[in-house]
Amino acid sequence: MSDSTRNISIFGSSGSIGVQALEVVSKLNNSFKINYLTTNSRLDILESQINKFNPFGVVICDYTAFKLFKKDTSFSGEILFGTEGLIQAATDKKNDLIVSALVGFAGVEPTLAALETGTDIALANKETLVAAGKIITEAAKKNDAAILAIDSEHSAVLQSMVGEDKASIEKIILTASGGPFLNKPISEFPQITREQALKHPNWTMGSKITIDSATMMNKGFEIIEAFWLFDFALHQIEVLIHPESIVHSMVQYQDGSVKAQLGTADMRTPISYALNFPKRYKFDFPRLNLAEISKLTFFKPDYDKFKCLGLAFSALETGGTAPTILNASNEIAVKMFLDSKIKFTQIPEIIEKTLEKVVVKSNPSFGEIIDCDLESRLVAENFVRELK
Ligand code: NAD
Ligand code: MG
Repeated sequence: MSDSTRNISIFGSSGSIGVQALEVVSKLNNSFKINYLTTNSRLDILESQINKFNPFGVVICDYTAFKLFKKDTSFSGEILFGTEGLIQAATDKKNDLIVSALVGFAGVEPTLAALETGTDIALANKETLVAAGKIITEAAKKNDAAILAIDSEHSAVLQSMVGEDKASIEKIILTASGGPFLNKPISEFPQITREQALKHPNWTMGSKITIDSATMMNKGFEIIEAFWLFDFALHQIEVLIHPESIVHSMVQYQDGSVKAQLGTADMRTPISYALNFPKRYKFDFPRLNLAEISKLTFFKPDYDKFKCLGLAFSALETGGTAPTILNASNEIAVKMFLDSKIKFTQIPEIIEKTLEKVVVKSNPSFGEIIDCDLESRLVAENFVRELK
């Protein structure tokens, strides 16, 4: 290991972002040594990653998978279990950088624990900032730890801000593909199937974020993510539909200039930017061919069709635990939709009802956020039962 080699842990290494992060790491010969890899239950993927990357340790969060792994594996490194295992791995002093790529609220505690230890985070798990943005960003500041966004929009904003005076920024414009139902008439929304919603036109991602993209809750979450990452007022954050997913986001300055970052729809580019910030390395990823694409289009989002977008804006405006409720009820609603228990149009209905029912706490402690997450899940589950 050379002096410049950094220890990296990938949380959620078996997922879409985790696998791509390891691909980036493998292309950067000797820049990184793998400390911990984690999975919920994908032992097949974990085993092949162990063989290739020889990590110091692994964390398995599903109990049955953990037991099975312990019984069958020849891996001689550390084998940890569950949330406690994630926190032990997150606070390990050997870590120079952690890729936070778990899906959902499961990412909050380990990410906070890592920041409190002063470890830099390459953040894919946007739910962490949605559910606990204030606590997370305060912990980063207090412990001098960086949060580098992997999300392509936020990477684009960061890339468009480097070298600029933040005070000269007028607004940031987050682009959105609009997902698979951008041009579907609202009258046909109740018939949307799980299979249709799982087919994103431009990106291949995990199932939860793919459904979030179809409802456009993903963009709602990204507004909240941008709010906490870049510390702008809500009125300085705009959403623009851009179906080609080529302009990944933009920053508008007070002299009228607009800076943008463009690229193919390939998460390996923002992942490598977050892992190596502020340096850029040579990669052989496909290049953008604008002559072939020839036309880029932009228009305003339809808030009637995509109710989740409005719900996210208003949760952020309400503040306190409102975004925690938004996140928890969305996780339940998306799971129920994926399990074919509710209709696509019932996703925003359940979230809205949960937001109306659960009492919002302003300035919550971390314990209050955990309680609110649990309560919101129970309330959302009750609304699902009432629908039957
Ligand atoms: P994914 O479903 O493919 O992978 C999720 C990972 O988390 C897996 O390794 C899984 O084993 C693990 N996991 C799931 N539930 C867990 C639990 N309860 N406890 C512990 N581990 C658990 O998801 P993904 O598409 O890689 O997305 C990961 C995160 O990155 C999400 O927050 C998503 O919004 C964000 N993100 C993804 C993309 C993308 O292109 N996939 C782009 C931007 C942001
Ligand atoms: Mg994104």
